[in-house]
Amino acid sequence: MFDKILIANRGEIALRVIRACREMGIQSVAVHSTADSDAMHVRMADESVCIGPAPSTDSYLSMPAIISACEITGAQAIHPGYGFLSENANFVQMLEDHGITFIGPRAEHIRIMGDKITAKETAKELGIPVVPGSAGGVDDMETAKAVAQEIGYPVIIKATAGGGGRGMKVAQDEKGLEVAFRTARAEAKAAFGNPDVYIEKYLQRPRHIEIQVFGDGRGKAVHLGERDCSLQRRHQKVLEEAPGPAITPEERARIGKICADAVAKIQYAGAGTIEFLYEDGEFYFIEMNTRLQVEHPVTEAIFGVDLVRQQILVAAGEEMEFTQDDLKINGHAIEVRINAEKVPGFTPSPGRISQYHAPGGLGVRMDSAIYDGYRIPPYYDSLIGKLIVHGRDRPEALARLSRALGELIVDGVDTTVPLFDALLQEPDILAGNYSIHWLERWLDKHYG
Ligand code: ADP
Repeated sequence: MFDKILIANRGEIALRVIRACREMGIQSVAVHSTADSDAMHVRMADESVCIGPAPSTDSYLSMPAIISACEITGAQAIHPGYGFLSENANFVQMLEDHGITFIGPRAEHIRIMGDKITAKETAKELGIPVVPGSAGGVDDMETAKAVAQEIGYPVIIKATAGGGGRGMKVAQDEKGLEVAFRTARAEAKAAFGNPDVYIEKYLQRPRHIEIQVFGDGRGKAVHLGERDCSLQRRHQKVLEEAPGPAITPEERARIGKICADAVAKIQYAGAGTIEFLYEDGEFYFIEMNTRLQVEHPVTEAIFGVDLVRQQILVAAGEEMEFTQDDLKINGHAIEVRINAEKVPGFTPSPGRISQYHAPGGLGVRMDSAIYDGYRIPPYYDSLIGKLIVHGRDRPEALARLSRALGELIVDGVDTTVPLFDALLQEPDILAGNYSIHWLERWLDKHYG
C-alpha cells in the first residue's frame, strides 16, 4: 500500500479523497493555487504544496508543477478527483514515465473513451446498446442527409471531441439539418479545435441513466447499479438519485451485467461510469467517464461502500473488497448540488461566506469544503457542496432532503438551495416522473 498520496484537485472532492486516505492510514498531500491558500483541502491534508497562480491552466492543470510536487513530497500516487487532469491520457502517460501511480484507469482506456466516435464503436463491439446513428464521423452534407433519412428525424449532431454538454445541435427536418450541420461543425472547431461531428437519433423524452462500474484491472469487474441524473440544466446535472425511480430490478440486472462484462473484457481498472439515455425500456449508450463522478455518493449510500477506498486499493494492486453477489441495494439516496449561483439565471455568485451551518442527523451527508468566513474564489467551478440523503425508501429520502435543506445555512452568497426547495413542491419530482427535458421546461414556465 502507498504511504503517501497527492491529490491533484481542490474543493469537496479533494476533501473526499483526504478522508479516505486518513481512514486507510495514508498520508495526504494537497496542492493548491495562490487563490486557494486558505482553502479547506490545504488545511485538512497532512502536507500542502503551492503549484502556481490562480488560473487553473497554470496550477491544477499544470502537469510539471504537479509532478514536481510529488517528487518534493515523496508521494507515490496521485488521485485526480474529477475534472482537471482526471481524464487526460497524456498526464497518465507522464506519471508512468516518472514512476508515479495514477489512481484510475490505464491511459489507453482514457484515450478510447475520450473520443466519442471511438468510444461508441468500442461500446458497440463490447455488446453495449448504442443510439442509432452514423457509423463514425460525417464530414459532408450529402452523407449527413442520407444518414438522417435512414434513422429518421429528429436527429442530433454531436462533436466527436465534445464534452460538458457543448457542441450539440438538433435538427427536426432536412432544412434544419443543413443549418445544424454547418453550425455544429463550426462550433466544434471553435470550441475543441476539431470540426468532426457524428449524427444520432434525437430521443424526445429520455432519462439519463448511468451505470457505475468498477474493475480490478485484471479482468474482474462489477456494477453498482444505476443513478438517474435526468434533472439537468444545459446538460449539467443538478440532482441525482439511486436507484433510478423508473428502473426495474430486471432492467438493472440486465444492463448492469452488460456493463460489468464489457469492462471486465477490456481489463478496466478502477471506477468508471457508462452513461445511457433510457426511453421505453431501452438503454442507449452515450459515453463513458473514466473517473469518479461528482454524484458517486448516492451509489456509496445505497451499497454501503467507499468507492475512493476501492480506487486506492486497486491502484495499489490489491483486490476490490466486494464481489457482485455482495452488492445489495439498501434504500434510496438523493444528492443535490449546492452551487454558488443565483437562480434562475444560474450566474456565478462568488464572494465571502458570512455564515455556514451544515445539516446533520440520520441519513445526511454533507460533502463541502466551505467554512465560516471562507471566500469563494471566482476562478473555479461554482459547486460548493453536495448534500446527500439516504432513507429506507424514496419517500423517506425526499422527506429527509427537505428537512436537511431546512437546516442548511449558507449566508453571504447566492446558492441553488431555493431551486431545490421549489422542486420538492412539484408532484412530478415527488413521483420521480421526469425526463432530461423536464427541468428546462419547468424553468421556462416559472421564470421564462
Ligand atoms: P457531453 O459529453 O457533452 O456531456 P453527452 O453525449 O454525454 O455529452 O450528452 C449530454 C446530454 O445531452 C445528455 O445527458 C442528454 O441530455 C443530451 N443528449 C445527448 N445525446 C442525445 C440524443 N441522442 N438524444 C437526446 N438527447 C441527447
